[in-house]
Amino acid sequence: MRIPFNSSHVFGEEGIFVQKVIETGEIAGNGKYTRLCHEFFQKQFKFKHCLLTNSCTASLEMAAILLDIQPGDEVIVPSYGYVSTVNAFVLRGATLVFMDSLDNSPHQDVSLLPDLITPRTKAIVVMHYGGVAVDMDFVMNFANNNDVFVVEDAAHGIDAYYKKRPLGSIGHLGVLSFHSSKNITSGHGGLLIVNEEEFIERSKVVWQKGTDKSKYDAGVQNYYQWVDIGSSFFPSELTAAYLYGQLQHLNEVTKKRLMLWNYYADKLIASGGFATPIIPEYSEHNGHIFYLSAASKNDRDKLLSVFKSVEIDVCSHYLSLSESEYVVNKSELSQAHKWQSCLFRLPLFYDLSYDQIDLVVDALYDVL
Ligand SMILES: *Cc1c(COP(=O)(O)O)cnc(C)c1O
Repeated sequence: MRIPFNSSHVFGEEGIFVQKVIETGEIAGNGKYTRLCHEFFQKQFKFKHCLLTNSCTASLEMAAILLDIQPGDEVIVPSYGYVSTVNAFVLRGATLVFMDSLDNSPHQDVSLLPDLITPRTKAIVVMHYGGVAVDMDFVMNFANNNDVFVVEDAAHGIDAYYKKRPLGSIGHLGVLSFHSSKNITSGHGGLLIVNEEEFIERSKVVWQKGTDKSKYDAGVQNYYQWVDIGSSFFPSELTAAYLYGQLQHLNEVTKKRLMLWNYYADKLIASGGFATPIIPEYSEHNGHIFYLSAASKNDRDKLLSVFKSVEIDVCSHYLSLSESEYVVNKSELSQAHKWQSCLFRLPLFYDLSYDQIDLVVDALYDVL
């Protein structure tokens, strides 16, 4: 029987809450379930202010608007990362400066920041790969000393922590994703986390198509009008209700994924052969990704094709953005290029069983 790479679990409350929304007829968005989701995040993670969005991509676009990125501004971004992270800034005219990965993990090598910053740098975007934290004390000290903003792409990072602080709550702005490939999902969906007081009021405007509708909703004004740029950033209540159903089980999801992740790690450590992912002591991760690295692209690709033939879905991951077709001045960053070539991810999802992990690991050793 085929072992898929990912499969989302449905707990039951999702459908119940969606049905309630259908019964009330208030499906447009920014209603009861959107509010309940906001309250959940504020209570669970002490986020100062957060807004549900259509996607993490949309959250990143909001972040770029709030930081007032202008043509000519430079933004330092991970090269080993996702296209949404960079598009959001390119849409505002930014020039990208790509940051390479570490040698021993796909995370950004933040010690390169002093070499990458220029007087035109406006922001640094860090990405917590697999829910494993980047060294945020280092990043925040550097950013504050140089007067630039930090955005945390915590798309992988719900319920993961840096020195006990939830990912997404440390930079000036943070984002989460609820895409179906992530730990908690509403199909599509995202969250913008606003940690910096100065962005809170404007975030509500940008979220509501550039209007001051939040004042109208609060009854302070009997009209609302166009006051800024913005877009249709909030999701429908159907999406919010589904998400709220999933959030009821967040603790269980993290716990289960960590058990499966640790089972992989123990089995692989016991049998040697592969270096398991490095988890720095400041990081408490959420079991989002279990990845390994082959010795070469050739080995990795052979491995992928053998797994394909035994119907186990093993996947490579990002292509290094600095080498992308869309980039005009392409450059090859050596570590990001290595991760692009050698990294592969093993199946990991809520309903995966230990028996299935045994099969995956056995298949891995057969390939070797
Ligand atoms: C999934 C992902 C995104 C985009 O999330 P969507 O919710 O699909 O828009 C952005 N950044 C990273 C690192 C991701 O993994």
